[in-house]
Amino acid sequence: MFSLLGVKIDNLSLEEVLERVESFMRDNKQHYIVTVNPEFLVLAQKDKDFKKILNKADLSVPDGIGIVFASLLKKNNLIRSRVTGVDLFEEICYLASIKNWNIFLYGAREETRVKVKNNLLRKYPELQINCLSESEFLNDYKINDLNTKGILFVALGAVKQEKWINKNLENMPNIKLAVGVGGTFDFVSGNVSRAPVILRKIGLEWLWRLIIQPKRFPRIINAVIIFPVLVIKEIIKNLNLPAGRQVSNLKIQNDNAKFKTK
Ligand code: UDP
Repeated sequence: MFSLLGVKIDNLSLEEVLERVESFMRDNKQHYIVTVNPEFLVLAQKDKDFKKILNKADLSVPDGIGIVFASLLKKNNLIRSRVTGVDLFEEICYLASIKNWNIFLYGAREETRVKVKNNLLRKYPELQINCLSESEFLNDYKINDLNTKGILFVALGAVKQEKWINKNLENMPNIKLAVGVGGTFDFVSGNVSRAPVILRKIGLEWLWRLIIQPKRFPRIINAVIIFPVLVIKEIIKNLNLPAGRQVSNLKIQNDNAKFKTK
């Protein structure tokens, strides 16, 4: 585990994350995964509840090249690979198709969810996939009528989706795993095109998104200006502190334990 700006991030490859997903689906507990990018970490500095929800997640994957770069600056903490929400979503859907897990989609616009469903069914005709609307969640709870284990993907954007999962997961006992996936449905539906692979590989996916969605400019400022400033400040602060007082994983675990007992 690696900690950045007080938020834990798991240093696992996509394959290792998928192994954890399989183990989550085997046990009797409910789990959730957060897909953390630099914007999450900036927002978590001002929103303590959001920070606690991130630290309480069963898995926190680094979805953002900025996090990989920041890990380079922190001794012995190099993040091995970026695990994007889109890649995780696609791989989990593939696993679900062979393991017979139900998939639920919540968030984004209805036509976007339907396009995602149709695209997935073209690839995996056997996949059990359900699009859910807010009213189905509030009035029907049809998830509870299903006997098979389910995975719920929530696309409401950063903060909102994690708070929604934190509040609602325990009311949906057949959901074994919930994952906040941000703009993933926009990509998988084909509404927004993903950056060419070369740009993804050199860490410029954010620039691509800025070009095709210029209204994201204020949010990209968080990721490319405020985030690096905060990381550098944290590194300088840690240099000036005795080893025992450095922002550590132990502090995250302590904060997390307090949050769980609330
Ligand atoms: N979204 C939503 N309800 C909201 C806010 C956002 O359904 O109140 C959807 C939005 O339509 C989009 C998705 O959440 O499909 C992700 O939004 P955003 O681009 O902000 O996410 P990011 O990937 O940047 O975290």
